[in-house]
Amino acid sequence: MNKAEEILAKYKLKKTNFRLELIKLFQSSKSSFTADEINDKIKSTNDKVTIYRALSAFEKKCLIHRVPDKSNLIRYALCQKECSKIHHKHNHAHFICNVCAQTFCLDNIKLPQINDTSGFKINKTKLTLEGACPSCY
Ligand SMILES: [Zn+2]
Ligand SMILES: [Zn+2]
Ligand SMILES: [Zn+2]
Repeated sequence: MNKAEEILAKYKLKKTNFRLELIKLFQSSKSSFTADEINDKIKSTNDKVTIYRALSAFEKKCLIHRVPDKSNLIRYALCQKECSKIHHKHNHAHFICNVCAQTFCLDNIKLPQINDTSGFKINKTKLTLEGACPSCY
């Protein structure tokens, strides 16, 4: 078994050539992908439904997570070790490059702890930074 096969087995995900390629694609990149970008990069399927289904299964198993997108498209990046098989547990910031429109996980930037004092219960904090990424800067 190669690494992508091991991941599908570990997360009890159905194994298809497309899903193996999808895992390899996410692992090969520090950035993130929309369904259209995946469709362009992976040739083993051009069925959008297959792509959406795989993405939603991967998200449910906490293999990938949604990241903000410059044009508000649905965009995913690989989860790091902090996510378990059933829970996403993110406390990193995201960076949108205004030049190449890519979104990156900034795992070294942790979200600030904000403690509410006025009757609002905080469940989620998001921090999105914008600018130019290292390849565009
Ligand atoms: Zn996650
Ligand atoms: Zn860029
Ligand atoms: Zn992220």
